[in-house]
Amino acid sequence: MPKNTRTKIIATIGPATATREKLEQLIDAGADAFRFNFSHGTHDEHKKRYKLVRKISKEKNVRISILADLQGPKLRVGEFKDGQAFLVKGAQFTLDMKKELGTQERVTLPHPEIFKALKVGDILLLNDGNIRLRVDECDKKHAVTTVLVGGILSGHKGVNLPNIHLPISALTEKDKEDLEIALKLGVDWVCLSFVQKAADVKLAKRLIDGRAWIISKLEKPSAVDELDEIVRESDAIMVARGDLGVECPLPTVPVLQKKIVAVCRKYAKPVIVATQMLESMINAPTPTRAEVSDVATAVYDGADTVMLSAETAAGQYPIEAVSVMHQTIQEVEKDPLFDRFMESSRLRLGGVCTDQADAICSAAGNMTSALQNVAAVITFTTRGITALWTARERPDLPILAVTPDERVANRLGIVWGVRGCVNKGVFKNFNNVESISRKIALETGIAKVGQYIIVTAGFPLYKGSKTNLLHIIKL
Ligand code: PGA
Ligand code: MN
Repeated sequence: MPKNTRTKIIATIGPATATREKLEQLIDAGADAFRFNFSHGTHDEHKKRYKLVRKISKEKNVRISILADLQGPKLRVGEFKDGQAFLVKGAQFTLDMKKELGTQERVTLPHPEIFKALKVGDILLLNDGNIRLRVDECDKKHAVTTVLVGGILSGHKGVNLPNIHLPISALTEKDKEDLEIALKLGVDWVCLSFVQKAADVKLAKRLIDGRAWIISKLEKPSAVDELDEIVRESDAIMVARGDLGVECPLPTVPVLQKKIVAVCRKYAKPVIVATQMLESMINAPTPTRAEVSDVATAVYDGADTVMLSAETAAGQYPIEAVSVMHQTIQEVEKDPLFDRFMESSRLRLGGVCTDQADAICSAAGNMTSALQNVAAVITFTTRGITALWTARERPDLPILAVTPDERVANRLGIVWGVRGCVNKGVFKNFNNVESISRKIALETGIAKVGQYIIVTAGFPLYKGSKTNLLHIIKL
């Protein structure tokens, strides 16, 4: 029985869930996609997990998207002599490139690019933003800072530099190695961490060369400044609220979330809302009210996908977390207000069609609510683009994306309301869109005799033409 909800769920796989039994339970509980976090785990572990997921989804006959999340240029301090040090408010603390263990007065920061970019007055955030330092003096090899907010700093903790544009690539040497492994396995999506500008995405695109689609994780203020360009350049976006919430004032994060979701809608790019959605479920079988509300808000906002991180990777209640998320999505999507939200956000998009695919899918979206008794939208899509434009309309109906390409069908697994369906034959020589649509609709059970289906396609199909056809068919 395919899921009937439209908002998708990504579960991050980690030690808590990397067994056949748990993976099956995650799928049964409502997961549509799995994220492999390359900041953790060995290549061997990722390989085993990848093979297992593909095997299970074949056996269960469900489509699961697989995401490889690259660590990106996560900056970290070196180790301390005593494992950690207490940074005292008001005291001086130095960051440098010396190869010595850290003390209460100094620690190594092995990133020359940071020292090149630092200026007096800049703020450095350490350990998830819990420690705050202000630069008083700096050169190419060190920085003397004043501790504005102190606390315990242990070795290897992360460093965030909000509002500083670092001259570093979004892909480190480790990322490039991880990327090759991930692409060789055949992952559907690659997530780029700490994207700063559209050029970062362009570089990754060249390396990936069509072998996977790219999700840019928005977790830096500089990326928000270039939001439109980054969204246009990427295949999808993640609102990475973890690091975003360190780099930007926390109260601005919900506002940014809404803004990013809206820009992604404009360009028909899938958008994932991520991090701490059900954080307390790492250790508790039920979430807080606020967390459930957060998931619901993302769904009402029209996000394509909501994501679980540590809850499913390392938590004690991974299955329960997916289940709570799925039930919350079900409740919101049942609410008549939800359809109204989706419809009104669609109307606001009117008049800005950027091309013919956009115009056709936008008309199809309007038809789904203008016409009674429409059962589904069927889109014939070689590269998945028509399916994205159709999903952008957020129709109150299932979207069946028929594609000749297994990879495209898998990638569409994180897209709002879309069900991927592979059919190679149709695209080879078959050009009677009407009869094939009738057949597919009835065979998949997506519509019944007497109901309408709305079809979008690029005709002739075998040429992989751009979307140019809109057809209403009564079964
Ligand atoms: P991460 O990214 O979990 O890989 O850090 C997500 C985020 O920062 O929110
Ligand atoms: Mn992050």
